[in-house]
Amino acid sequence: MAFTYRNGELCAEQLSLGEIARRFGTPCYVYSRAAIESAYAEYSRTLAGHDAIVCYSVKANPNLAVLALMAKLGAGFDIVSGGELARVLAAGGDPRKTLFSGVGKTENEIEQALQANVLCINLESEPELERVNAVAGRLGKRAPVAFRVNPDVDAKTHPYISTGLKQNKFGVAHDDAERLYAAAVRLANIEIRGIGCHIGSQLTDPAPLVEAAARIVALTARLEAAGIPIGHIDLGGGIGIRYRDETPQPIARFVAGALAALEGHRARLILDPGRSIVGNAGLLLTRVEYVKPGPARSFLVVDAAMNDLMRPALYDAWHAVNAVHEPSPGARPTTYDVVGPICESGDFLAKERPLVAGAGDLLAVMSAGAYGMSMSSNYNSRPRAAEVLVDGADAHLVRRREAVQDLFALERILP
Ligand SMILES: *Cc1c(COP(=O)(O)O)cnc(C)c1O
Repeated sequence: MAFTYRNGELCAEQLSLGEIARRFGTPCYVYSRAAIESAYAEYSRTLAGHDAIVCYSVKANPNLAVLALMAKLGAGFDIVSGGELARVLAAGGDPRKTLFSGVGKTENEIEQALQANVLCINLESEPELERVNAVAGRLGKRAPVAFRVNPDVDAKTHPYISTGLKQNKFGVAHDDAERLYAAAVRLANIEIRGIGCHIGSQLTDPAPLVEAAARIVALTARLEAAGIPIGHIDLGGGIGIRYRDETPQPIARFVAGALAALEGHRARLILDPGRSIVGNAGLLLTRVEYVKPGPARSFLVVDAAMNDLMRPALYDAWHAVNAVHEPSPGARPTTYDVVGPICESGDFLAKERPLVAGAGDLLAVMSAGAYGMSMSSNYNSRPRAAEVLVDGADAHLVRRREAVQDLFALERILP
């Protein structure tokens, strides 16, 4: 376990969170190297002996230290912007194991991806196919592509993170796929590599993924019968983690389901998980500024806010909140809303939690390793939090806290 109590204090690996707060201040994201490695290892163990790669989804946590760790473990990457491509390259990631996903790639981003020789550009529309063909022609290259197909499968997850239904903006319609592939093979600067889908995030059961895989495999068979070779099948990411009382099936179960769906095909399997690798490998460490009792509710006003961790405000997401110092056995908890200082009623990290905490105490907002820092902003002119990667008894500052002067370093006053 990455985060456990020792002598009454919550620790990250061998290091107490109190010590981390003293050294790096709060609010602060804390990641466990061992937890990241062990989640990745569950993928690599289950995929061993199969023609498969794991392309870590950069948007879940794009810190360079995390990317470098993934690169060292042999992972590829799934990116959704030119900025993420630059991060992968800066972290020493292999562009030839990098997939470029996303509905709105600009010409400039497509050019960067082709110059970097990425593994595959995942196309999400016909106009994008035409644009990629044109950019590749201009560069004298052939663009490696796959279509992201929308399998019209209900991932049974939060509507904001469900992406594989007909009404979603993602992917090309299942019924259009054969026509689009037939159009793509005729283009001079396009080289078809594979096919893909990604049905949504925070899946707790493999069934929707397996159903989507079966539809993609059936489509692959029809494409191959039409003389279009499919080198890889990318089944996306989306494997869920436990935030509260969810009981997600183990990663190995999802992977086994994917492998079984591909049984008998020679296509290589690609998975692009994000949350399941980093989600429970990180927490947000924050300090209570004020205890504010109220007539209807009592509040712990903390120094982290929705700009640091947006998921509660955005999805009404539930994150466990733990007092860093274990309360004494007799202490009676009070029910609090844990809120930040931002001028929005949506600025909360947790609601109605029984906690024993006073001003100055440290709290840990758990399961914040994925879509935490990566969704953060400077709203209310708040400098972004520091990020610390813990490795055994060592803590490494992997992103310094933003300074106030960073906030407007790019701005100018008219003369
Ligand atoms: C966001 C995304 C992922 C990762 O999703 P997780 O739920 O974090 O595993 C994978 N593939 C694509 C195409 C994505 O957009």
